[in-house]
Amino acid sequence: MPVARILFPLPLPEPFDYLIPDGMTVEAGSYVRAPLGQYERTGLVWELVDTPPERELKAIESVYPTPPMPETMRRFIEFCARYNVAGPGQVLGMALRARGGLSPSPTQTVYQATGHRTNRMTAAREKVLAATAELGSGSATDLARAAGVSSSVVKGLVEAGSLKADIRATDLPYPAPDPHRQGPDLTPEQSAAAKSLRAAVKAGGYAPFLLDGITGSGKTEVYFEAISETLAKDPTAQILVLLPEIALTQAVFERFEARFGAGPAPWHSSLSDQQRRRTWREVAHGRARIVTGARSALFLPFSNLKLIIVDEEHDSSFKQEDGVRYHARDMAVMRAKLEEAAIILASATPALETVVNAESGRYQRLKLSARPGAARLPDMHLVDLRANTPETGNWLSPVLSRGLVATHAAGEQSLLFLNRRGYAPLVICKACGERLKSPGTESWLTEHRYSNRLICHLTGWSMPKPDHCPKCGAKDSLMGVGPGVERVAEEVRVLLPKATVEIFSSDTALGGEATRGIVERMAGGEVDVLVGTQIVAKGHNFPNLTLVGVVDADSGLQGGDLRAGERTYQLLSQVAGRAGRADRPGKALIQTYQPNNPAMQALAAGDRDGFLKIERDVREELSLPPFGRMAALVMSATDPAMAKEIGLIAGKAAPHGEGVTVYGPAPAPISILRGRHRLRFLITAPRDVDLSAYMAAWLRALKLPSAARVAVDIDPYSFL
Ligand SMILES: [Zn+2]
Repeated sequence: MPVARILFPLPLPEPFDYLIPDGMTVEAGSYVRAPLGQYERTGLVWELVDTPPERELKAIESVYPTPPMPETMRRFIEFCARYNVAGPGQVLGMALRARGGLSPSPTQTVYQATGHRTNRMTAAREKVLAATAELGSGSATDLARAAGVSSSVVKGLVEAGSLKADIRATDLPYPAPDPHRQGPDLTPEQSAAAKSLRAAVKAGGYAPFLLDGITGSGKTEVYFEAISETLAKDPTAQILVLLPEIALTQAVFERFEARFGAGPAPWHSSLSDQQRRRTWREVAHGRARIVTGARSALFLPFSNLKLIIVDEEHDSSFKQEDGVRYHARDMAVMRAKLEEAAIILASATPALETVVNAESGRYQRLKLSARPGAARLPDMHLVDLRANTPETGNWLSPVLSRGLVATHAAGEQSLLFLNRRGYAPLVICKACGERLKSPGTESWLTEHRYSNRLICHLTGWSMPKPDHCPKCGAKDSLMGVGPGVERVAEEVRVLLPKATVEIFSSDTALGGEATRGIVERMAGGEVDVLVGTQIVAKGHNFPNLTLVGVVDADSGLQGGDLRAGERTYQLLSQVAGRAGRADRPGKALIQTYQPNNPAMQALAAGDRDGFLKIERDVREELSLPPFGRMAALVMSATDPAMAKEIGLIAGKAAPHGEGVTVYGPAPAPISILRGRHRLRFLITAPRDVDLSAYMAAWLRALKLPSAARVAVDIDPYSFL
């Protein structure tokens, strides 16, 4: 008699064994209830084994009427756990985010008209019958609310025989999309791309694509063709479209509805519990054909996933930064491989990692270069700060200041982009021009004012701020260059006393709600000048934004953040999407001390591929991702002395690994968060090293006080 090994959605190291009672049908992937400790809990049958139990086992209590989780999904959970150095139970927890979906839909009583008219009609009763005629049917509460009367009037009509009750599921299935609806006419270039996608879907199997198309080139219409083919080919096939959370708008939903005659099943953080369980159930039963969701939708238990689309694949919101840290784009590629599905990564500004995969032939690249909407890059101007020096203590050049004044006077919006928060990104010597770098790297030292230290964000190396220049010996000659967003905002408030100025950084916008709030105020025209870090470089659309100022392009291109240059480029391109539609062209002013730097030249020329090539060469030379591997170990404690101690313990426990270099511990970029003192190790290794295995071995060797917290971040994105 087989034993069921049950995995619980908890941070436990492995599944536990249970007996299967007589008459119960259980298979690998079944969702069950089983006793664990004092409680009965929901778990998943991970596998059935035949080994006779060594001790007395408890039995499974019950099985949910949900189709078993497919083998491919279980392998995906295993992969995710191993790769991201998390417990499989923790990853299962992400797949079980809507427990209500495991049970059949709750039911409710709805009422509809019988056609019988009672001769004891009142005005209130007339209103209810009118509301019923309009809605077709509804619960007593809904009908009473629509009629503006109390629900006792509804009950009275039931007794009089004018309404009859009917029991219905609360969570209805989503309407089925129609694969045969005709899409819009495509341009020859769009048709060619759509043809490649349709062919790949028709052939079946794993097929990764980069859909590389400039803003306004019709990427969505092209991937809609792949969706249409997938729906038509297999009546049970399911499609997942991942979008940045902030892009999951009603407008996007309506686009799907217009093309396929039915809206997709949604999945994002603002859903109600009822919407969440409904989508989860419909996906698990294979009835939801198209799902549009934020990154966590990747963990929905699809029964037959045949196409994944990651739209805006470069967007940093696909990286989860807490709990199990993972990158949804990278995990989506692995899921597609396991499901033998097609995957389309779409972007106007693809991530360097994706471009390198396309160039090496791992992904097939489909290019859309035509510009039907005439979208074009804004007029890019490099502002040479050596010639247009800001006034002492200021950071905005006269050119950019005049631009801000003129834009505000015209009733339009400006955005100032600066990718450093409360500290100076660069320390230079006023006497000799020396830029202080971290030993053995090209990485600049960052001034931390609260601790008066210079810290390298890449390696964690640090020193007290010296009195003399290490190169020329000049006394008191070192100065921090480049401000944080707060100081720039202050300067703008002096320049434009009547303007509404807001700051947009991870300090002012923690969490989705706060972010949406700022984005909505900006989109609604309530903000005149937005000063932000790279958090603004996401796919926001600000229709009245006509001026973008890059305050410090030098730190943007060469600072401690690996992807800062890419984000600068993405931000500037984002303005382009709007510039083509508005009659006023957008304008970008890029402040730099190095106008002749090739990356700066490429940026100003709007030469994306040239820009990426330079980025690529730099990363290759320094063996940075994707040419090398990187991980972070983030630790924290409430007590600063203990934080220091756990750093020492962890440093000693770091295993030896061929080619692996461990830097740190350094104070984490946000060194005090929610009262916890954080520190961080950065680990680099050649591409062929299994860094996940290395990090797992390190964790196993780590014996820490229980008050300490530790997290692994494979392929870290957050350096600020
Ligand atoms: Zn000097």
